Amino acid sequence: VTPSNRRPNYGPRNGKDESGVSGRVRVAVRLRPRNTDEILADADFGDYVELMPELKRLRLRKNNWDSETFQFDEVLTETASQKRVYEVVAKPVVESVLEGYNGTVMAYGQTGTGKTYTLGKLGEEDTAGRGIMVRAMEDILADTTSEQDSVTVSYLQLYMETVQDLLAPEKDNISIVEDPKTGDVSLPGATLVEIKDQKSFVELLEIGEANRFAANTKLNTESSRSHAILLVNVKKMAKLKPERELSSLNENGSNIQLSKNHRIPTIRKSKLLIVDLAGSERVDKSGSEGHTLEEAKYINLSLTALGKCINALAENSPHVPIRDSKLTRLLRDSFGGSARTSLIITIGPSPQHRGETTSTILFGQRAMKVENMVKLKEE
Ligand code: ADP
Repeated sequence: VTPSNRRPNYGPRNGKDESGVSGRVRVAVRLRPRNTDEILADADFGDYVELMPELKRLRLRKNNWDSETFQFDEVLTETASQKRVYEVVAKPVVESVLEGYNGTVMAYGQTGTGKTYTLGKLGEEDTAGRGIMVRAMEDILADTTSEQDSVTVSYLQLYMETVQDLLAPEKDNISIVEDPKTGDVSLPGATLVEIKDQKSFVELLEIGEANRFAANTKLNTESSRSHAILLVNVKKMAKLKPERELSSLNENGSNIQLSKNHRIPTIRKSKLLIVDLAGSERVDKSGSEGHTLEEAKYINLSLTALGKCINALAENSPHVPIRDSKLTRLLRDSFGGSARTSLIITIGPSPQHRGETTSTILFGQRAMKVENMVKLKEE
C-alpha cells in the first residue's frame, strides 16, 4: 500500500495541520420516487426538480422562465438503488471509521421524503432494500474479526431536549457527558450492546423501533418530531503506528521511512453515528397538532440549533453555538469537529412542497461549506 492510496478518498486536502487531515462535509441529495397520489395529483405540473446526476447538479424550476441550479457531491435520482446510495453516501465514512476516524452519516429533510427508508430500512424480505444502518454494520462486522476487536451499539431517541434509550425504555433521561480535556462526547447511562453478528443487530434495531413506537404513543408524539441516533463504537487492532501513518498521509507521495517498531499493534477506537433527523418542516406555532407555543419551541430547538451551527461554520464565524441544544452537543464532533461527515438530504417530487424542498436544498448547500478536522484516536 502506498501512502497516497491509503488515505480515504474524501474531499479536498487543504487546511491540514500536523494533528490530522481535513475533509469537507460531503452532501448528497436524494429524490424520492412519486407515490400513487403524487402521480395522479401532479400529472399536469411537469417536473419542477430536474436532476443531472452526471454533473452532480440539481435544477429547481421557479416558474416557466426562471430556474436555479445547485451543485452537490452526489445527486441520487428516484431510481438510485439502496446499494448505490450506501456506496456513495456511507461507505467512505464506514471505511474511515474502520481506519480509526470518527464518522457521522445523517439524513435531513421534510417528513415523508425517505430519511428512514434511506437509513433504517431493514429489508429482511427484500435484501436489495436494506438501508444504510444494516449495510454499514455488515461492512463493520466483516472487518472486525480479530479477537481483540469489538463492536458495541447504543440506540437513542432525542425528543423535546430529552435523550431516551431505545434499548431500555425505562431510561428516559440519558445525560450527555463531555470530557473537559478531550472534548469527547459520551452517553455513560445508555445501554451498550455488543454485536457479534448481523442477525442480532437487526433484532436490536427491531427492538429499538418497537420501543420508539411505544414511547411516542405514550407521549402522544409523532416520530417525525424526534431524532433517532444509532451509535456504533468500534475497537480494532491496527498494524501501523497512527503517527507514522498520518505523517505518511501528509507527505506528497514520496516514500516514508517507517521506524523499526512500526508493526507494534495499537488498538484504535472510533465511533460511527447514524442520525435520522426530525422532519425539517417547522412545528406550527398555531398548535394545529395540539402543541402549545412552549412545546413547539422545544420541539424545534435542536434542529434549529443545528442549522445555526452549520451557518456559523459555513461562514467561519468565531462563535458556533454548539452548546445550545442536545443534538448539537451530541454532534459536536460531526460538524467542524474531528470526524468524517456525510449528509444526505431527501426531497420529494411534489411541487406542493416547493418551499420545504428549497429550504432543504439551501441547508445542504450551507453544509457543503463546512470543513472538519479529522484526527486519529488511539488507546
Ligand atoms: P421520512 O423518514 O423522511 O419521514 P420515509 O422514509 O418514512 O420518510 O418515507 C416515506 C414513504 O416513502 C415510505 O412509505 C417509504 O417506504 C417511501 N419511500 C421513501 N423513499 C423511497 C424510495 N427511494 N423508494 C421507494 N419508496 C420510498
